[in-house]
Amino acid sequence: MDKSAETKAFLIAEGGVDIDERILGRITTPASGPGAGLTSFFLRFNGHRVRLGIKHSSRLKASLEGDEVVIRDHEKEIVRGYLEDAIAHCPEQAYITVSEVCIFDCQYCPVPLLGGSVKDQSDVETAISRILADPKLARKLRSIALTSGVEESPQREVERVAAIIRILRAKYDLPIGVAVYPTQNSTKLLKEAGADEIKYNVETMDRQLFETMCPGLSLDFVLEALKDAVEIFGRNKVFSNILVGLGEDDQSVINGMQDLIKMGVIPILRAVVEHPLRSQTRMRRPSAERLLRLARKERALLDQYGLRADVAETMCAACTGCDLMPHRDV
Ligand code: SF4
Repeated sequence: MDKSAETKAFLIAEGGVDIDERILGRITTPASGPGAGLTSFFLRFNGHRVRLGIKHSSRLKASLEGDEVVIRDHEKEIVRGYLEDAIAHCPEQAYITVSEVCIFDCQYCPVPLLGGSVKDQSDVETAISRILADPKLARKLRSIALTSGVEESPQREVERVAAIIRILRAKYDLPIGVAVYPTQNSTKLLKEAGADEIKYNVETMDRQLFETMCPGLSLDFVLEALKDAVEIFGRNKVFSNILVGLGEDDQSVINGMQDLIKMGVIPILRAVVEHPLRSQTRMRRPSAERLLRLARKERALLDQYGLRADVAETMCAACTGCDLMPHRDV
């Protein structure tokens, strides 16, 4: 019996491995989301991809044997696979964070505390031109994706990102995905600019947790925006992260997934990262069993409502590095 989904769940739950950075190719340091600022690499095994943090304190040790990476738990071999280069943030995509800063202060997210940079249109164009100038990377590039924190206001951010997408759309014949905090007209603006897929994150469908974790943000507003997004972008084109490990119970995740899926939105179940900059937040990385159970439930719900997660061309549903993705992993 193929146990590779279990293996991926185990690796995600562990979150990282001890590895000598010198054997890695392009390591990646996400500039957005709960894992921002932590270095990681991508491993491909049995048709799965997993992003693993570099964690020297981990009980899992990775080493190179020929061109294979072997991960062992003490002496027991857990998996062997191949390193996959990140193009920009992840394999096969130029996934660029426009504003690596945020005026909001979601309690699980390190971005507001990292003080990252803000890219303008020419920075994004330069980054993509550099990728295309490298034949090895250009051959592998399948799509472009933009995400952004909020530098001044959500509306200003959406307008900036839409302007960049308009330029990219005119220049490149590649699918474009976008993940931002929504505004009244963001869906229309981003679609007209040329985006093909969109992600607005609910982060949690547990209302009480949302209020504590995301001060100043509105879950109802995000849900309304997701509904509009399905009307404008279509089914299988709209995504939303649900964090797992903030303190919610399984039933709230399942009910939340069902609400989103009924609307035509594909949930991305994302294990929280116990980030050192957010150590006061009582987050717990979920167990492999919990991740598998919820991912299998998501797969069943997607099938019931006729959605497919494996037709995604951009962002996390196409990458799959951080999550157990229905139709691809389970
Ligand atoms: S799954 Fe999403 S967050 Fe994770 S590496 Fe891939 S694109 Fe980045």
